[in-house]
Amino acid sequence: GGGSFGSKKIKEVDPGELPYVLVPEEKECNRRLEEKDGASVASTACSSSVPQFRDSEWNDNVGYFIKKVVTVSTGELLPANPEILEGVDDLIQLSYLNEPSVLHNLYQRHSRDIIYSKAGPVLIAINPFKAVQLYGNDFVTAYRQKLLDSPHVYAIADAAYTEMMADERNQSIIISGESGAGKTETAKIAMQYLAALGGGSSGIECEVLQTSCILEAFGNAKTSRNDNSSRFGKLIEIHFSATGKIWGAKIQTYKLNLKTASEYNYLNQSACLAIHDVDDAEKFHVLMEAFKTIRISKEDQEHAFEMLAAVLWLGNISFKVVDTENHVEVVADEGKMRSCSGSRPTIFPGSSATLCAARLIGCNAQDLMVALSTKRIQAGKDNVAKKLTLQQAIDTRDALAKFVYASLFDWLVEKINRSLAMGKQHTGRSISILDIYGFESFKEYELDGIDWAKVEFKDNQECLNLFEKKPIGLISLLDEESNFPKATDMTFASKLKQHLNANPCFKGERGGAFSVRHYAGEVLYDTSGFLEKNRDPLHSDTLQLLASCSSRLPQLFASSKLNQLQKTANPSSQLGAFDSHKQSVGTKFKGQLFKLMQQLENSTPHFIRCIKPNSKQLPGAYERDLVLEQLRCCGVLEVVRISKSGYPTRMTHQEFTRRYGFLLSENNICLDPLSMSVAILQQFDVLPETYQVGYTKLYFRVGQIGALEDMRKQF
Ligand code: ATP
Ligand code: MG
Repeated sequence: GGGSFGSKKIKEVDPGELPYVLVPEEKECNRRLEEKDGASVASTACSSSVPQFRDSEWNDNVGYFIKKVVTVSTGELLPANPEILEGVDDLIQLSYLNEPSVLHNLYQRHSRDIIYSKAGPVLIAINPFKAVQLYGNDFVTAYRQKLLDSPHVYAIADAAYTEMMADERNQSIIISGESGAGKTETAKIAMQYLAALGGGSSGIECEVLQTSCILEAFGNAKTSRNDNSSRFGKLIEIHFSATGKIWGAKIQTYKLNLKTASEYNYLNQSACLAIHDVDDAEKFHVLMEAFKTIRISKEDQEHAFEMLAAVLWLGNISFKVVDTENHVEVVADEGKMRSCSGSRPTIFPGSSATLCAARLIGCNAQDLMVALSTKRIQAGKDNVAKKLTLQQAIDTRDALAKFVYASLFDWLVEKINRSLAMGKQHTGRSISILDIYGFESFKEYELDGIDWAKVEFKDNQECLNLFEKKPIGLISLLDEESNFPKATDMTFASKLKQHLNANPCFKGERGGAFSVRHYAGEVLYDTSGFLEKNRDPLHSDTLQLLASCSSRLPQLFASSKLNQLQKTANPSSQLGAFDSHKQSVGTKFKGQLFKLMQQLENSTPHFIRCIKPNSKQLPGAYERDLVLEQLRCCGVLEVVRISKSGYPTRMTHQEFTRRYGFLLSENNICLDPLSMSVAILQQFDVLPETYQVGYTKLYFRVGQIGALEDMRKQF
């Protein structure tokens, strides 16, 4: 065929030619496709690009529109894979590697509840959003004994364990994916496998499994994307003895995603206090059992719940403006005060929320009110209390609540670690499982169609420089501006444009905006709120109040924070002068990441990439464009392409002869499978450099099976 379609070249897809798939095209969904008589197949594997086939027929078996001959522009066509490669285990086996083919392959598997696939060395896990029958002792045994070799988390965990034992090297399993993709569940499945393998008489493996329950109870929340969303990242390190038995474990958390306290504490504001199918009472019971297993004392449990209650009460403290400059005081309750414990009525000129919060953390209620509504500043030699504005007071209260909650969480992690280590010095090997919290939005990614054949695995150094370079990387500039009292988001934006414009990954945009070309695509940022978010809003006044509390936990929380600050601050500075030396949020974040990277670099990595097949948390639904975005963002296609160099397609001699044996002349038929394979290859002049003959299998270079299938069709 040929001709023109608008200004583009067009092609008629003839019968006898390979089936084609259409290039995914996000923007232009209503392309007109002309239909011709005939009997060939044109298909699309991207929902957003479903073309307007007239009278087209959706075929559930193949998952795309089956159509007669259509006329499309040539640029939109990509070759499809031969049927024999339908639904392969590993994407590197595909002869034609393009986005529609990969999407289609994963779709095929997903629709058959085959949630695991390989992309070269990476395991792809598509969240089934329902119970799938793939786990439990029988499966553990089958993977351990290599009776099963289809892609699975168990296979990854088994490889990590086997390599750890054989190479005496630490291993890590790195799980990534967006929020709700299934990272935490996958981490638990990997832990189950390792617990089953490394279980012994000590019962420590049960303790390791129970830790998830406690961490999730305190560290997860319902979000619009995930009913059980991790609000922290964690690295769980499982220690093994020389004989491969679990010995202890250690958990590190990265609370990187703690936002304002209001996201957790104003429970009533979410208008969602119950989750379908979740029984809070039962979950609480399970939590108590886990506490018992981990040996957290009754007294410590009580302390923990007191801190939870204090956080909730803090959230109920409100402020009223008392002068024309927007300064505030804590709002007092109307009428008679009620004590929070309900036992003794108390007369107190403030609010019951303040009273209850103060009692729980063990301080004077009046002091708490002062700390929340004023800030002490140095005036000459004196300390004077300056009233806060409404926004400042709210931020101070939220910062305190958030600090107490975060400290409580850290304290629990510390308790768990102590229980798991039981004071022993670890000398053996370990497997670390990294479950970082998922990013919540891909909306900002502006991606033009990427031709994967041309994208090289480029290193990301320019982009890293943009963030890291000292003294004029993005993070340094942000810290500098955050410490400069007169700075605004706009001055920050213009500083960025002034210093970073030379970096090819940076582009100054109009107003306070700028864009960064990340690995996965370009992201537009708006600087408004950047400086405020980067400053740690916890004032030294509040910390000092906590340090003076009579309850043990608040004291502990405050002193560890003060210690931490002392380490980073100028050693000669006094308490109160900390605010100018505090580590910014961005720098702290970077420091944690750096530590994590160091740890991972010293281990052999295994990768699992979780994919969310739809945004509604539903079983059975596969939104192609959503899946495509996730595959693009993590570079799955590039990994596959790199892995394909070599001989990615494997077939046993039996499989090969069964499929292509009929092409042989009669006198070759009675040979053994290996000789038959060789005869077939020779008869059809398959170039020797495109295959390798093994004892049991044939190995082919990329695209070879496609070529053989073509020949097969000609007969
Ligand atoms: P976040 O980044 O928000 O923490 P996540 O990637 O950790 O998200 P999970 O909490 O692991 O996501 O998974 C979300 C939900 O998906 C689970 O609560 C569960 O209902 C379902 N799910 C995930 N993986 C599986 C699985 N293998 N089998 C059955 N259901 C699963
Ligand atoms: Mg999670």
